[in-house]
Amino acid sequence: TTSVMWFRRDLRTADNPALLAALADGPTLPLFVLDPALWGPAGPSRRSYLVDSLRSLGRDVPVSVVRGDPAQQVLRAAQEVGATRVHVAADYGPYGARRDAAVEEALRDTGIELVRTGSPYAVAPDRVTNGSGASYKVFTPFSRAWAEHGWRGPADPLPTDARWRHLKETVDLPDVALPEGLELPDAGEAAAHRAWEAFLDKVVDYDGARDLPGVEGTSRMSHHLKYGEIHPRTLLADLAGRGGKGATTYRQEIAWREFYADVLFQRPDSAREYLRREYAAMTYDEPGADFEAWCEGRTGFPVVDAGMRQLRATGWMHNRLRMITASFLVKDLHVEWQHGARHFLHWLVDGDLASNNHGWQWTAGSGTDASPFFRVFNPTSQGRKFDPDAAYVRTWVPELVDVEDPHDPSPEARRRVGYPEPLVDHAAERLEALDRYQAIKK
Ligand code: FAD
Repeated sequence: TTSVMWFRRDLRTADNPALLAALADGPTLPLFVLDPALWGPAGPSRRSYLVDSLRSLGRDVPVSVVRGDPAQQVLRAAQEVGATRVHVAADYGPYGARRDAAVEEALRDTGIELVRTGSPYAVAPDRVTNGSGASYKVFTPFSRAWAEHGWRGPADPLPTDARWRHLKETVDLPDVALPEGLELPDAGEAAAHRAWEAFLDKVVDYDGARDLPGVEGTSRMSHHLKYGEIHPRTLLADLAGRGGKGATTYRQEIAWREFYADVLFQRPDSAREYLRREYAAMTYDEPGADFEAWCEGRTGFPVVDAGMRQLRATGWMHNRLRMITASFLVKDLHVEWQHGARHFLHWLVDGDLASNNHGWQWTAGSGTDASPFFRVFNPTSQGRKFDPDAAYVRTWVPELVDVEDPHDPSPEARRRVGYPEPLVDHAAERLEALDRYQAIKK
């Protein structure tokens, strides 16, 4: 029988169990729905990257692209080709789960089945539980149980005799204009595999290099994982043959991604609300001119500005910088984490509700395993520690390239190169943050 493969966050042909399940049914319509509910809020980075990724997928599989409400569009497409099943990889995010339930209901009325096979994770949310069947609330026991649970090996390659169907009427993928100065990484399955192969050669150094933003020490797989151009199972299988601290640490980072997806699935409200509810009582300032300066990378704290400018220039920011810049917004500028999380999601190519918003909650002290609120990052010493030769700051704040001590330029040097004075006095704002924290502890 004919079936539909509805692609969403799984824009690949390799290791794709849902696609194999569709092809096992018979001729398959590969479908993508441009959903205004997701396209609308996406910033230029994700829109452009998604279009590139779909174009890349389209070279391997003749994807029919339509636009509109998935509940109507998927039904219409399935009816047009006479499909009895629509195959997907399960989506566990709050919006995705709701959308899929609505599609499932629309299909059911006409006797078409929605079949979920696999997910964007090695172990799907809700599978890793403790002895009494409860989900984990902290990372370390989760990651232990996650590793014990284990995962399947990568799925088979696509059959060579795959038969494809297509829709009569489709829409063209929109051309997305990127703001000046924004240059995105290559999208698509082939680019994902190239990047991964290159990283595997240096995974032995990962443990030492991953925290140094001036070094290309991380894998840059986050956007490929976000769009499912490669599956984490593939990564884990390639790491399995490799010992060493680098591979072990990398596996832990994949576990963080899966942990946050699980936490968000258990507590969908934690996408917006404080995971630890007592933190909702904290006093914050309304975002104003200082928030704008943070967004634009002109706080006068070189490492913070470097991170914020890297985000706007590449759609990616190094993890250490995500922590430093988030801490600065929450604890030096006293702006609530949700504002920063929204700004990140607007610009990040890898922008992911679970990893991003829980990364922010970690900083704000309100998340799982959160850094205690009273531990306030000093941006200048963070810069000196993790960017000791200032290579990173010099790259992203080029006006400081020839300045003595780029992590803390003198007032005279700032004036000379036109770099702003520090927006705030860090020592004073640290005390202010601690006062506000004490107020909710009473
Ligand atoms: P690598 O160091 O090579 O890590 C490999 C993979 O492990 C990553 O691709 C990612 O999938 C996963 N990973 C690593 N660290 C984390 C982590 N702390 N939490 C969850 N997964 C992790 N990651 C996103 O994918 N999307 C986001 O929107 C996002 N927002 C963040 C916001 C804040 C405030 C913070 C502190 C972290 C955020 N992260 C996010 C996590 C992390 O910063 C990125 O995954 C990482 O920088 C991506 O670069 P990489 O692929 O080179 O990482």
